[in-house]
Amino acid sequence: MNATCQRCERPMPDQAFACASCADRASQQLAEIVDLTPAARDVAHGLSKRQGGGGGSGKPGSRLPFDLTATSKLDAVQGELIGWVRHIAEERGVAVDLHGPGKPRDLIVGASEWLQGGLEWLRHRQEVSEALSGFDAAVRVVRGIARGPREQKYLGPCGAERRVYLDPEDFGGFDDITCEGDVYGPTGGHNGTCRTCGATVDQGERKAWLDDEVRSRAFRAVEIEDAYGVSANLIRQWATPARGLVNVHAQDREGRALYLLAEVLDVAAGQAAKRAEAQAKRARRAAQRESEDAA
Ligand SMILES: [Zn+2]
Ligand SMILES: [Zn+2]
Repeated sequence: MNATCQRCERPMPDQAFACASCADRASQQLAEIVDLTPAARDVAHGLSKRQGGGGGSGKPGSRLPFDLTATSKLDAVQGELIGWVRHIAEERGVAVDLHGPGKPRDLIVGASEWLQGGLEWLRHRQEVSEALSGFDAAVRVVRGIARGPREQKYLGPCGAERRVYLDPEDFGGFDDITCEGDVYGPTGGHNGTCRTCGATVDQGERKAWLDDEVRSRAFRAVEIEDAYGVSANLIRQWATPARGLVNVHAQDREGRALYLLAEVLDVAAGQAAKRAEAQAKRARRAAQRESEDAA
């Protein structure tokens, strides 16, 4: 009797619940999670740094237009992976320490590395299919967060009004709520879609609103550097009385200077334009000299 892989439904030479090539694929996915997690964490941390302020009314503008779901998605991935670590460790009666000295400090990384060593054992267990689905979903989430911004642009919180029925069987009671979902659109596309309620928005309008929303706020120099690539040192120089190009708008609780983003970006754009002009001038002169030399 030939056993069939629960995952790919191909016949297997050995008696197991999943074939070696499915386990191999899972191993690659776990390795990819190890690789991409630091980048995904950066996205989550960088974004969640700006969570402060704003209430929870869910209207666009009541919170900063950054992706606040990345952190909770990574929490879910971590929970899923650690759940499998615990399960395998318990079933096999082995001790596991993901926190110990010399272990990676990131629990997603630690769990993924540990799980790679458990795949061959898992292959012979009935629950292997469930586990491999979990790893497959996990790598998609981590990949999506780490690479997402390039493929799908975050377009802010949704804010659409929608009706939620309290009892799906009885349409008598309902709440009209403001959707707190996140809107994404393909880079270069026209529309964006809310991942929670499916509402569609125009990317151009959204972008203008987001720009306004963010530009009118003040951030620390390093935050602006992180988000927009304008050197924090440069920003601080621009704010010195000698340069006077930007003002210190306010100070945060720790007394650190906050700069109005709009002001900083305007100065940065102005300087970039000047640089481009100077460069073009140099290029023109060089071309002129060349043609003179050739003559
Ligand atoms: Zn298979
Ligand atoms: Zn929505």
